Amino acid sequence: MGKLILIVLTFALAWWLLRKYQRSLTRDEAPHAVPEDMVRCDHCGLHLPRSESRVSGDKFFCSEEHLHLHG
Ligand SMILES: [Zn+2]
Repeated sequence: MGKLILIVLTFALAWWLLRKYQRSLTRDEAPHAVPEDMVRCDHCGLHLPRSESRVSGDKFFCSEEHLHLHG
């Protein structure tokens, strides 16, 4: 009987640690999800994430079209 309680307690502890671990993982993810560099289209002034922008020299554009409009 005492053994069974020990097993149950071990599982409860393992489950608790797992939950705590998962929670710490999701908390760590939050800062990564946050600010990506925002850049401004040099043609229309639209703000967009750097990864979605077209770059020409030191200028950023929101679309291929605006990049071409600026030469
Ligand atoms: Zn634009």
